Amino acid sequence: MVDYHSHSIYSDGKNTYNETLNQAIKKNLKEFGFSDHLCIYYPDWAIRKENFPKLISEINEIKNRKNLSLEVKFGLEVDYIEDREEEIQNCLDLFPLDYVIGSVHYVGNWNFDTKANGYQSKDIDQFYAEYYRLIQKAARSGLFDIMGHIDVAKKFNYFPGFDLNPIYEQTAKVFSESDVVIELNTSGKDRPCKEFYPSDRFLQHCYDHNVPVTLGSDAHHVNDVARYFPEVLEKLKLIGYTQLASFTKRERKFLDI
Ligand SMILES: [Zn+2]
Ligand SMILES: [Zn+2]
Repeated sequence: MVDYHSHSIYSDGKNTYNETLNQAIKKNLKEFGFSDHLCIYYPDWAIRKENFPKLISEINEIKNRKNLSLEVKFGLEVDYIEDREEEIQNCLDLFPLDYVIGSVHYVGNWNFDTKANGYQSKDIDQFYAEYYRLIQKAARSGLFDIMGHIDVAKKFNYFPGFDLNPIYEQTAKVFSESDVVIELNTSGKDRPCKEFYPSDRFLQHCYDHNVPVTLGSDAHHVNDVARYFPEVLEKLKLIGYTQLASFTKRERKFLDI
């Protein structure tokens, strides 16, 4: 098992890399990835620029340890910001990365992932259309290896008036054409929507379009590392997935499940 999505005190997580790593070892993971938030707006929940060198040396030191029972991966969860692709790429070039998760947390200036009170005044149909336009554009940008929590628009339990099925299928097609991997992100189960990201229907479309999958708990606390993983592994197998994507220096390979 692999867990490719975690946060530490370098962004909005509660624990250090070493504390999180110890938990990953206890969970018997084969690979564990650190993926703190990187956002070119530099909000307080993302890595601060002045901490880049310290973060890089800390992860490198952990990766170089002998006799670790798991492989440690250097990842980042990076905000896709439309029309700022070059700036994002320049920033990514500063890190010796194994993989990059691309996430959409902003629609316009609104951080819909944290500002729950924003939904009341929004046209939810329009919000969903805009979210999926951005996630598709993010996949096509070539900046990312893994698309993060791909239906997070449902987080606070607001749903559009239209059927989401066609947009799921269209998005899965774009992922396939863009050769990106999706993550089955288990954090949604603990949010108001009480569902994994993506939903079963969306996951089925991804499978049908040969989009590979990996796993992420989006842990912000050690207790959340690998949450619900036995359950989602069964789910993936039922759908037909036989492998999880794994990354080293941004090269993809597959592990059997
Ligand atoms: Zn996120
Ligand atoms: Zn995250």
